[in-house]
Amino acid sequence: MSKSSLPLVFLDAGHGGKDPGAIGNGYKEASLNRAIAKRLLEKLCDEKRVRAILTHQAAGKDINETWAARDRAAFLRDYNSSKEKIDYVLSIHLNSSTSQSASGLVVCHNSREKEAWMMYNTMTELARKEGFNIEGNRVEKIQDRPDLAILRASLLKLFEKNGLKIGDKKEFEDYFKKATDNFKGGIADSLDKVIADRVSILMATIRDERSANKPSAASEKKTESLEKEMESLRKKECAILTGIEPLVKPYEKYSVLCVENPQEGKDLRIPALLVETGFISNKEDANRIAKYPKNYAVWMGEGLYKILQI
Ligand SMILES: [Zn+2]
Repeated sequence: MSKSSLPLVFLDAGHGGKDPGAIGNGYKEASLNRAIAKRLLEKLCDEKRVRAILTHQAAGKDINETWAARDRAAFLRDYNSSKEKIDYVLSIHLNSSTSQSASGLVVCHNSREKEAWMMYNTMTELARKEGFNIEGNRVEKIQDRPDLAILRASLLKLFEKNGLKIGDKKEFEDYFKKATDNFKGGIADSLDKVIADRVSILMATIRDERSANKPSAASEKKTESLEKEMESLRKKECAILTGIEPLVKPYEKYSVLCVENPQEGKDLRIPALLVETGFISNKEDANRIAKYPKNYAVWMGEGLYKILQI
């Protein structure tokens, strides 16, 4: 097989530069993503079954240069349509949760559930053979957007605890009044609850908006304004709760790369998976990834070969 007929694979190390990604257990997500991506690149280049390149490399950037996921996706799409067809993109990330027990591998996909499971199963099986348990519980579907906006992990615990609730504004305000009285009595649990309820409503609205609409300036504007509202509500809460340490960090949004956008038509699709190798908030996961990035790279590379059937 001539060199140029080998499948072209892009590796994308999530975050970097001014954007550290998730932080936990003394690690920055961006550095761990980079460690795995570099080793995966080495493996793929050595074995010559695919042509592999880092997104940063292809764009002539330093791997540690700040580069928004949205812009990376645009670059890849452009490359794919104007330069050369990309056969696969692997986006490498770590998860995070305020629940320290949350752990394990998550493979995210858009319309490639079978491939996501192939990656998941290959990685977990190879890890098990080497005496590691990297099993999480899943493969997740990500939204049909060039970038996936998610809430900072500090909110996840609240959802895990209280579940996702949707209610109307009035109901919420009544609840808030009641809960505020409770805060005065120092019941911190209510704080958790009230924030979770409020944020849930807004989040659900934002999510519905995003899944119901094709990416457009108007829907983007609407979700942005909802996000702003959420942010200001949270500030208000902090003000009301004078003397009580806010339990939740300020709201932040960050993006992960997802270059497959079915809404753009078949020709522009680039097959892609996003691999969350583990939870940086989980000590075991974080230490294991930091200590054995090469193993993760090997497992992921073998998963890729399976998907590409080579
Ligand atoms: Zn990430």
